[in-house]
Amino acid sequence: MASIGVSERLTSLRQYQGDGKRAPHKPLLVLLALGQLTASGSSSMPWSLVEDRLGALLAEFGSPKRGAPTPAYPFTRLRSDGVWQLTRDVPNDNVGPLNSEPIEGHFTADIEDELRRSPDTVYAVARALVEGQFPLTIAPDVLVAVGLDPDLVFLSPTAAAAVIALRKRDANWRRQIVAAWDRSCAFCGYDGSLGGAPVGIEAAHIRWFNFGGPDDLDNGLALCSLHHKLLDRGAIGLLDPGTVVVSTSFSAVSEVGRAIYELHGRELRARPGTALPAPVHVAWHRQEVFKGDPLAV
Ligand SMILES: [Zn+2]
Repeated sequence: MASIGVSERLTSLRQYQGDGKRAPHKPLLVLLALGQLTASGSSSMPWSLVEDRLGALLAEFGSPKRGAPTPAYPFTRLRSDGVWQLTRDVPNDNVGPLNSEPIEGHFTADIEDELRRSPDTVYAVARALVEGQFPLTIAPDVLVAVGLDPDLVFLSPTAAAAVIALRKRDANWRRQIVAAWDRSCAFCGYDGSLGGAPVGIEAAHIRWFNFGGPDDLDNGLALCSLHHKLLDRGAIGLLDPGTVVVSTSFSAVSEVGRAIYELHGRELRARPGTALPAPVHVAWHRQEVFKGDPLAV
């Protein structure tokens, strides 16, 4: 039963997550340490490595808000969850003392021992953390970025059993969204089918399901797989409920890639009677997901 204790301790981290605000910094540090443990046999990481790699993870997958926590925040504060230790004592949040002399962080000995004994526990914790923080379009990207194999994480039977009990999803929501948008991408109009069934068309939440986004018709769009991913990564967003915006953080050189720029300012392709996304969900996406500033019109 020890492994259950370790899973619970690593997946019930104290973090500010009220009101649907994203706070992925501690989970991303734990995921990074799990990747380090899997690769090297030890979760121990010098601050210089954490500063680089967690900094990159937070830039890519963290909240886009200005003033979001830096790597020093989880590196020092994860200690208070009783799962993480540093090789010398430093105050919380301060970069100066971290840089003054070498310092490493690692899981506590009991957690480290259990994770070494049980790769399945590593996968179970990784899956629970990544599914708690990100939509399924992004979860595999996060796992690859921390050095964990998404196939092993998602196919592990222990991981399947350990997933945090999420709110029940509405089984019909995806079908209803795709139908309401004429089985076509609300951004580009892609409407391919294979043997008569839509292919590459997905129902996308505007406000992520795991951050309070309801399975309502005004919290979803039918999008092609590419545009679903770009919406969830914050490369594309909505200026208002009916208008697409593209982020200045997105860049492409090829003609196909640059076609994304042409979506900027485009009206959503709603059929008569289809609900546009609710302003409250559009505002959440703009604040918590959309990266940087919109392109100039
Ligand atoms: Zn599309």
